[in-house]
Amino acid sequence: MKYEATIGLETHVMQKTNTKMFCSCKYEYGAEPNTHVCPVCLGYPGALPVLNEKAIELCCKAGLLLGCEINPYSKWDRKNYFYPDMSKNYQISQYDQPLCLGGSLTVEVEGEMKTFSIERIHQEENAAKNTHAAGASLVDYNRAGTALMEIVSDPCMHSAADALAYMTALKQIMQYGGISDCDQEKGQMRSDVNVSVRPIGQKELGAKVEIKNMNSFAFIQQAIEYEIGRQIDVLERGGKVDQETRGFDPDRGETFIQRTKEDAHDYRYFPEPDLMPVKIAAEQVEQWRAELPELPAQRRARYVFELGLPEYDAGVLTADKTISDWFDETVLKSNNPKLISNMIMGKGMACINEIGSEKYFSTMTPTLSGEVVDLVANKTISNSAMNELIDILIEKKGGDPKRIVEEKGMAQVSDDSALEGWADEAIANNPKAVEEYKGGKPAAINSLMGQVMKASRGKANPGAVMQMLKKKLDG
Ligand SMILES: [Zn+2]
Repeated sequence: MKYEATIGLETHVMQKTNTKMFCSCKYEYGAEPNTHVCPVCLGYPGALPVLNEKAIELCCKAGLLLGCEINPYSKWDRKNYFYPDMSKNYQISQYDQPLCLGGSLTVEVEGEMKTFSIERIHQEENAAKNTHAAGASLVDYNRAGTALMEIVSDPCMHSAADALAYMTALKQIMQYGGISDCDQEKGQMRSDVNVSVRPIGQKELGAKVEIKNMNSFAFIQQAIEYEIGRQIDVLERGGKVDQETRGFDPDRGETFIQRTKEDAHDYRYFPEPDLMPVKIAAEQVEQWRAELPELPAQRRARYVFELGLPEYDAGVLTADKTISDWFDETVLKSNNPKLISNMIMGKGMACINEIGSEKYFSTMTPTLSGEVVDLVANKTISNSAMNELIDILIEKKGGDPKRIVEEKGMAQVSDDSALEGWADEAIANNPKAVEEYKGGKPAAINSLMGQVMKASRGKANPGAVMQMLKKKLDG
């Protein structure tokens, strides 16, 4: 029998707010545990929550970026549960009236454009962080009560590749939109994944298995693939898949059971009495809409249609917002988009892999990069000299590119008499290559070219050398 998998994602994204969702405590990753806490986020009885308006703005902007409707009236609910990470024994969340409704995300999956629909985005507060050390469990309430939104997709995906493409695009949009840094290592983006399997042709979905709280794309992919295989296996053997919650064990690459349906939680949602409902006027929504930044897909289109870059370049440049922002600023300094793109995709990426992007861009600012690109554009230096120049600039943490080129004698030679001398020498010393070229092997000219570049110590202008060699050999 053939089977079809259905996947839905519930993605938690921590918003970039200075303070927590319902109190004025700061959020600071890596701070000394339990130093950013107060009676509200510690859940003292009687402490009253105060709404963080910036979080509401960011949640609604996330919704607008994903094509959601902004709910003019939304309200707060208590989701009741008992666990040390939520000391007041309930989480303030949104149950039946979330901030954002509907929406979608169109992405390319293995060469095919697919649109995945989004059911809702609701605002809630984060739980504290539990750490289980040898023989003890520790709780850090610094994270308790920080602003957290949950983006719920419809069950509309069918493979790990679908889920990965959706998550990757979602992360980019949140970063470009200034909604969240989505640093997964810091737990700023985590997903619960719902997976079910049914025989193709069956109308109703199979029993839903939820895999909880994963922060790595690689783990999400492994967990989905494992879970689809496991469920098909159960069905093939005539068994029944149980609706349950499972965890993922990265060491074994397997999911394992955490809770069955029998003891599934009943959260007993009820309206939060300490917070007013949120009313959002249409004018407010339009103002937020006008403030939305350019998204990766729009940027890619601009690079291709306005700057004339190949689609490949546009994709690589926009994959990382830091690089894309740097690129935009550098084009303003030196109007040579393709040369700038070549520079960052070649030498730039190699350096970034070696020393990290922060260190690279702290030296190779748009201004300095623009000066280097200008030297290539006006043919003062060759590409290989450019790479050398960048190494020097990074080592010295800056400098004057023109002066370095002069001091180190890196300027490219296009002067005919110098080129002619090197070309004659190469031709005289390589009769075999000359013979091959004349005998109908055009590629043989490359070894002569190499000889000239070597003789000039990389300073000869390659285009001029090629012209000179052809003139001599063909003429
Ligand atoms: Zn607090």
